[in-house]
Amino acid sequence: MATSPDDTLVHTFRRYNDGDDTWGSMNEHIFQEDTSYKCPTYIQKTPPCQGSCPSGEDIRGWLQIVRGIEAPVGDMSMQEYAFRRSTTANPFPAMMGRVCPAPCQEGCNRNDVDDFVGINSVEQYIGDEAIKGGFTFDRPDELTGKKIAIVGAGPAGMAAAYQLRKMGHASVVFDDHDEMGGMMFYGIPNYRTPREALRHENQRILDMGDIEFRGNTRVGKDVSVEELENDYDAILWALGAKKGRGLFLGNWNDVPNCVTAVDFLEAFNKGDMKYTAANIVCVGGGDTSIDVVSVSRRIGTVDAYNERPEDSAEGRLIHDAAGTQPCDNVTLTALFAQEDMTAAEHEVHDAIREGVHLMNEVMPVEIITDENGRATGLKVIACEMDGNMPKAKEGAEATIIPADLIVSAIGQFGDLDGVEDYGNTDKNLFDADAFYQVPNKPGHFAAGDIVRPHLLTTAIGQASIAAESIHKYLNNENLRRRPKVDKHHFDMLEKLGEYSRTPDAFDEAKKEDLRGTDTLDYAVHNFDDRSEFEIVKSSELFLGHFDKVNRLLRAEDVPDNVEVLGHFKERMIGFDDTQAKDEAERCMSCGMCFECDNCVIFCPQDAVFRVSREDAPIGRYVDTDYDRCVGCHICADVCPTGYIEMGLGG
Ligand SMILES: Cc1cc2nc3c(=O)[nH]c(=O)nc-3n(C[C@H](O)[C@H](O)[C@H](O)COP(=O)(O)OP(=O)(O)OC[C@H]3O[C@@H](n4cnc5c(N)ncnc54)[C@H](O)[C@@H]3O)c2cc1C
Ligand code: SF4
Ligand code: SF4
Repeated sequence: MATSPDDTLVHTFRRYNDGDDTWGSMNEHIFQEDTSYKCPTYIQKTPPCQGSCPSGEDIRGWLQIVRGIEAPVGDMSMQEYAFRRSTTANPFPAMMGRVCPAPCQEGCNRNDVDDFVGINSVEQYIGDEAIKGGFTFDRPDELTGKKIAIVGAGPAGMAAAYQLRKMGHASVVFDDHDEMGGMMFYGIPNYRTPREALRHENQRILDMGDIEFRGNTRVGKDVSVEELENDYDAILWALGAKKGRGLFLGNWNDVPNCVTAVDFLEAFNKGDMKYTAANIVCVGGGDTSIDVVSVSRRIGTVDAYNERPEDSAEGRLIHDAAGTQPCDNVTLTALFAQEDMTAAEHEVHDAIREGVHLMNEVMPVEIITDENGRATGLKVIACEMDGNMPKAKEGAEATIIPADLIVSAIGQFGDLDGVEDYGNTDKNLFDADAFYQVPNKPGHFAAGDIVRPHLLTTAIGQASIAAESIHKYLNNENLRRRPKVDKHHFDMLEKLGEYSRTPDAFDEAKKEDLRGTDTLDYAVHNFDDRSEFEIVKSSELFLGHFDKVNRLLRAEDVPDNVEVLGHFKERMIGFDDTQAKDEAERCMSCGMCFECDNCVIFCPQDAVFRVSREDAPIGRYVDTDYDRCVGCHICADVCPTGYIEMGLGG
């Protein structure tokens, strides 16, 4: 079984410093701290993985479910329960698990012990199991009677339709393509987002009912915005950024065989471009540029190639046969050093293995043309960054890379044709406030790349907030300030409800004395949910509890430079049940009890006790007898997850 390769990682947690030779008066702490009047309270906080996930998934929650700590209710399988938890925030687990660059993993506290938890490997497992198991989404049977027009069926548009349907609102999703998925379909190639899984995840949203997909329909051309305003209760603009930016070189627009990455990839993904020319140069450094060069190496070229490569790359020529020989010279240039490229590290390594020639820290300076004005090469020179701008290194000599086709992958913006009056034509994007409302356009909302081109998970997170704003707008509710940590938090009250232990409604008559919540039937005793305000840091955890365990790696099917021609097989091979559980077990459950028993074992007063199993949803596993507690805070010290804080409980 593959694990992360770095065996040199060591614990960073140390209870004592070099030279310490005494305990530091534990006796006093234990037997004299009773004057503190502080007893353990249970504090739910947001773990940093969730804090760093732009769609705000309850990652800790679904990892606890996969590892078996949080048990499903009734006879639901672990896989379905985990799927339900993960899709509260994000309805595309199979896609995310494969291609999300996983900022959550960078934020993971486990980095301070050995290595991050393989979050998106487990997310892929959940997504694939959901497809295998045919799991469906819940939705209210009763509709509100409101209907929203959603422009764009990319991740933002589809995620919004999903969230709105959960609130009882119907929608129609318009897209100028014939398939749903936006850039998941027309940008990212099929070996990264397999079409069968993508179609399944889109269809599962439509299967909620009362969500209609209207493909091949461009808003602003086939249907006017005025019609949408008349026929729908609100409009969500989720147009994405489908126009590529050309290189900032004077003659870019005049040279025919210079194209943008989004056009090139759309032609490939539609199945129109089946091969290309032999010499491809792509300028970029992000995911999009990697896709261009990896696709070029896969489709290859044909004998005696005699076309204008821009015709197929820009959709004017439709091929009917596939390439038969490799494109030998596929070059990717980037302004930054390899380790600073924005593309995911493993994608860069894969591209190199597939035979892509990578040139780092170079900037394009001239498109070399022949007597017909066609590009024959791209002149580049070694560069360094001066703030945000590259500048040629002193004394560096320029190199010409031979090119039949130059592809620019340096950014995108929105295509506002026909909808100019609603967007910001200076930026070719849509303006949106903190609630994703379009300023000065009541009933108009915007989310995803059209607001800020970024990642799939970002578009999905914005869509979810926009859906909430639309819901409030439709109900004439005021929009209140968004929480500081704006995520899909675990909801203890919902969990208690699953166990039929929902506290009673607050009774005004009993408001006189709020002390002693252990006897109150309308309060969750001893518990405070600070998830909307606090992210739990690794310094708040007892890291000494965790042994070093190598991260499990997914197997990958990455071809070498010979096998790559015609290789379109899925790249990421998902975990099986055991691997998913093993990797989920590495999670330290930051900010939430994971039932380790440390507090029960180490309490010198036997004040901490386990509650009965049938009475113990996650987070309510232990309780404290405050008559016995002397406030020594040992339980808080030995709590590995930072869930216990000494407070004035009662
Ligand atoms: C090549 C490429 C590779 C990428 N790789 C990754 C990756 O590995 N990981 C990652 O997280 N992100 C990646 N991204 C970024 C990610 O794809 C986007 O952030 C995400 O798709 C944005 O979602 P969206 O719904 O806002 O827009 P889109 O996905 O662009 O969807 C918008 C949809 O609206 C349609 N539309 C536009 N105008 C109209 C109109 N007037 N009427 C009707 N329909 C319209 C568009 O055609 C499109 O189908 C990549 C992007 C590209 C281009
Ligand atoms: S969507 Fe991305 S950031 Fe969020 S949990 Fe999944 S892999 Fe992590
Ligand atoms: S250890 Fe678990 S809960 Fe903590 S940050 Fe990492 S994945 Fe999240």
